[in-house]
Amino acid sequence: MILLLLLVVNALFDVVTCISQHPVLIVVSYDAFRYNYFEKNGSLYMDKLRKEGTYADYMLNVFPTKTFPNHHSIATGLYPESHGVVGNSFYDPKLKRVIKMSEEMWRFRDDIIPIWTLNEIRGAGRYSGSMMWPGAKYLYNNKNITYIQDWDIDADWYKRVDTIISWIKNPTKPANLVMLYFEEPDTHGHVYGPESDTVFNLLKRLDNITRYIDDQLLANDLADYVNVIHLSDHGMSSVSPPNFINITQFLKSNTYEIADTSPCLHIIPDSDFEQETYKNLRQASREHGNFSVYWKKDLPSKWHFKNNRRAPPIFVLADPGYAFQDLAEAAQTYALKYHINITPESQFGVHGYDNEDTDMHPFFMARGPKIKKQHKVSPFHTVDLYNLFCDILEIKPVANNGSSANIKAILVSQAERNHFTTLGIAVVAVIVSLMLVSCGAAITLLVIKRQQNITTIAALNKRFPQTFNTNAGIEAQHLLESEEA
Ligand code: AMP
Ligand code: ZN
Ligand code: ZN
Repeated sequence: MILLLLLVVNALFDVVTCISQHPVLIVVSYDAFRYNYFEKNGSLYMDKLRKEGTYADYMLNVFPTKTFPNHHSIATGLYPESHGVVGNSFYDPKLKRVIKMSEEMWRFRDDIIPIWTLNEIRGAGRYSGSMMWPGAKYLYNNKNITYIQDWDIDADWYKRVDTIISWIKNPTKPANLVMLYFEEPDTHGHVYGPESDTVFNLLKRLDNITRYIDDQLLANDLADYVNVIHLSDHGMSSVSPPNFINITQFLKSNTYEIADTSPCLHIIPDSDFEQETYKNLRQASREHGNFSVYWKKDLPSKWHFKNNRRAPPIFVLADPGYAFQDLAEAAQTYALKYHINITPESQFGVHGYDNEDTDMHPFFMARGPKIKKQHKVSPFHTVDLYNLFCDILEIKPVANNGSSANIKAILVSQAERNHFTTLGIAVVAVIVSLMLVSCGAAITLLVIKRQQNITTIAALNKRFPQTFNTNAGIEAQHLLESEEA
């Protein structure tokens, strides 16, 4: 019995010591996984999984619906005008140049603390890891997180999962927060369009990797301890060549710069050409339609995009279903690289449109010990995720643009947690009681046995003094006499 108990306690101890003493969270991003891709029936495992845990029909992401701004809003709980990543590339008037993927893009201000940094700031024994999450490899709060694997489009998806599991199981620095990124169905979604067989096949491949994550959690005894959030940054919609608009024809060459890509272009006119550039673009928009032109000050406040020095002086946004000349150029590159014929019917994938356009909405689902089971929540804002991560990790958030109210419904309530804690305590109490009873019985047996030995030695000592009159025999005799007295 004791042996059995020892084995059980030992096994429990092994599991507990293999992972962090803090709540554990994995956030998985599947780039450009549109909220309604489940309807394609390519991701059946994911669909089953989302109904087992908590899911929302979609999330309200941030504008522009591009990869880098959205990943940073998920990670910081801030709108692009607050975190400064206002596009996949943009002009910074302070640095006087166009900023592309680099440290300068992400570290807009020193007080921006992404969740991976906050997790480590909030206490000893908390370790974060980033598996290719956009922007996570840079210094925030003057430090790097413990585990960082840099972006590598060729890195095997299964190895990415194996690596994050090894971070979580690291015996000295077990990660309790891991951000995991997959670049699909974005990368090929641009080339073949969201309704293509290629995207359908990618959904199946991603479904297999989701299943693999779960299998690995189970195989490593982690499934009961680890919370996993699966989400995306934005959706995707189709554009065909007849809807490519060449706006450069409305501009005077060598008088402007353009940053970012379709459908949202940042126009940076030379200082003497601001009025003329705006006037020409507005006129073209009126005559040809299918795109809008804004002065920075006129950008809609609801986008939370304009109040930043990096927001463009002039902004051009294509209507859904339309794109600009940069896509025509990208299409030529795709044609060469992927051996595709471009016809008027060809479809390419584009995102970046208004975040109220439903095609731009990403999915959300979560599962784990802190997540409600078989539960659906109303759509919420991606800036709310920061507070959700903090609640799961049991850390205090820093100021952000999200709301906690919206995400409370995702979590198992305190009352339910107390119930489970009470149950847990009861189980431990039973185990400890059993152990105490067993130990008590063992000690009693030992005492009785010892008593019998003493009596036997003392008796033998009395009968055969020459043979047994040893120190032990004399001590036994004295003991027996004192206990009898
Ligand atoms: P976009 O579609 O323009 O919003 O950008 C997303 C694409 O950027 C993904 O499909 C990846 O191919 C690529 N990407 C993702 N992470 C990085 C990174 N850290 N550095 C460079 N490119 C990346
Ligand atoms: Zn993306
Ligand atoms: Zn993309």
